[in-house]
Amino acid sequence: MICHPKITAIRTHRLQHSLEEPLGFSQWQHEKRNALLVEIEDSEGNTGWGECYGPTEVTQSGLHSFYAPLLIGWNPCQNEAAWQHLWRASLDFARKGVMMGAMSGIDMALLDLKGKQLGVSASELMGGRICDELHCYATGMYFRNVSESNLLEIILEEAASYVALGYQALKIKVGKNIDFDIRQIRTMRATFPDIALMADSNHAYDLPEAVKVGRVLDECSYSWFEEPLSPNHGRLFTKLAEKLDLPLATGECEQTRWGFQDLLSAGGIAIAQPDLAYCGGPSEALKIRAIASSHGVNVIPHAWGTMLNLATAAHFLASTFVEPGRAETTPPLLEIDQTPNPLRDELYSTPLEIKNGIASVPTLPGLGVEPDREALARFCLQKTEQQ
Ligand code: MG
Repeated sequence: MICHPKITAIRTHRLQHSLEEPLGFSQWQHEKRNALLVEIEDSEGNTGWGECYGPTEVTQSGLHSFYAPLLIGWNPCQNEAAWQHLWRASLDFARKGVMMGAMSGIDMALLDLKGKQLGVSASELMGGRICDELHCYATGMYFRNVSESNLLEIILEEAASYVALGYQALKIKVGKNIDFDIRQIRTMRATFPDIALMADSNHAYDLPEAVKVGRVLDECSYSWFEEPLSPNHGRLFTKLAEKLDLPLATGECEQTRWGFQDLLSAGGIAIAQPDLAYCGGPSEALKIRAIASSHGVNVIPHAWGTMLNLATAAHFLASTFVEPGRAETTPPLLEIDQTPNPLRDELYSTPLEIKNGIASVPTLPGLGVEPDREALARFCLQKTEQQ
């Protein structure tokens, strides 16, 4: 089918929600949830939605003032050419960073719009859906402003609540301090002997620290060690991998096929984790997946934010293949952030369904999750429109 619609309007919606309790991790505390949604409308009345990860006010400004005018009149079915159009227009000053976050949201919205125009889901556009359900892992167990003994108790209770919901895999935060991290890693394993566990330091460690913590993760049979090191020191991953058995995962701070090519060429990484609302968007993530494949590396997206990013990650995994593959392969897990998130859980009229730790891949055309306009207005700080 050939379609000839034209993009007639691009809107952004900057959303915010104040959290009752801040979410702490090795680098920072989140006191607010922020999200920037992109809405692209075409001449046939279809609307595509995307989401950008990053500082929402800055991203909104870049998207509205720089990229949006370049796309008015563009055929939204030509989504890959649109990416190249925006890339070339900003290459000299925006090869990575916030502007690439803006491009990611646009790319996601164009994929949603194209799926709606063609009447197929995003996973069909990503190469074909090969499964309808995905096993998920629960992300949570953030740090709180309480004593360490109280914190450990709270983390264990929280973890138990996710297991009670049916999750068979959990990811904890590490990187608070080495002693606490090691105590937490061992206590979690002793408390949940049959649950798959992962640990995420958000690039908190230097190499000797990462080796020390990684050896405890090895001893406790964790499934992966996420962002053990700074993304600026790609070559240290090789040194760390030589000393540990468990897979190293990273990539949520990385962007574009070229960024991942450099990161993966250095070696040491077993799992690449682009965020589809930041890495350049879902069409760029497919290129990253091809590059990762050439390095024998699997891609499991980082999934933070609202339902749009989560649904995009679900479609991506539903169309994924496992390196190197075998008859009885272990399918990749979809990340489900369990912390309070009204911008995801109260914003959508058609959300992604998750039951007993298993997500159903949306079947509606496009991404298959639709923001509710009334809820959108409730959380909206600022809206922009380009026509
Ligand atoms: Mg992470």
